[in-house]
Amino acid sequence: LLSARGLRKSFGANEVLRGIDFSVRRGEVVTLIGPSGSGKTTVLRSLNGLETPDAGTLEFDGGPAIDFARPASKGDRLAMRDRSAMVFQHHNLFPHMTVLENVVEGPIRVQRVPRAQALAEASALLERVGLAEKHDQYPHQLSGGQQQRVGIVRALALKPDLLLFDEPTSALDPELVGEVLKVITELADEGWTMVVVTHELQFAKQAADEVLFMDGGVIVERGAPEDIFTKPREERTRRFLDRIL
Ligand code: ATP
Repeated sequence: LLSARGLRKSFGANEVLRGIDFSVRRGEVVTLIGPSGSGKTTVLRSLNGLETPDAGTLEFDGGPAIDFARPASKGDRLAMRDRSAMVFQHHNLFPHMTVLENVVEGPIRVQRVPRAQALAEASALLERVGLAEKHDQYPHQLSGGQQQRVGIVRALALKPDLLLFDEPTSALDPELVGEVLKVITELADEGWTMVVVTHELQFAKQAADEVLFMDGGVIVERGAPEDIFTKPREERTRRFLDRIL
């Protein structure tokens, strides 16, 4: 579905990505783990145009390959952005809009979906994540876990090929983490393709098809979760896991 080659990015003198290569197949769950500052979020943001790498290529199947070394056309960038939808660490819901309005905003305004259809689809999605009764509430009336589930529904409503999650549970109180991970795990089981930046290694173990361990702007090691977590090959991976397991 997606192939990233040689992604590089610097912020001033700080070289944050030093050549990132990976692919995601349709239906696959890829998790990105690694220490703070290793570049995980920057990789994720590069996949949907929130960040523009200095070099490298990105190719979605069926779409144009984008070479970041050349100035991308606006059309290329828009095409790329439409393929994925991001769930942020903080839900980023519009505070002055109800739950339902938040969910239909993208489909109606950006994708020009007819209002009645967008509302029907949004209702069905909200019901699926157990929020049928919350349609008309405002974000501040919901718990953090409920807000984050609305954030996930908002991404699903765009019907992207690829879901991107940027530490979706790290801003939550510990007792709310489970309900959000449960929704993400169910989506993975249903066959959604996703890239998940996470500190929840238990989730990575259970849900990931492939784990990428990043450190210092490179992917140090990659593999199936049972290999990465039980027999890491690289010393840096071992040290990271020892520290947080
Ligand atoms: P964390 O787990 O703490 O979120 P991360 O692995 O996701 O870390 P990134 O957020 O990708 O790491 O950040 C990598 C480095 O890039 C950090 O040193 C960060 O300060 C820097 N950085 C990220 N975004 C910007 C920006 N817009 N401007 C300047 N520096 C940035």
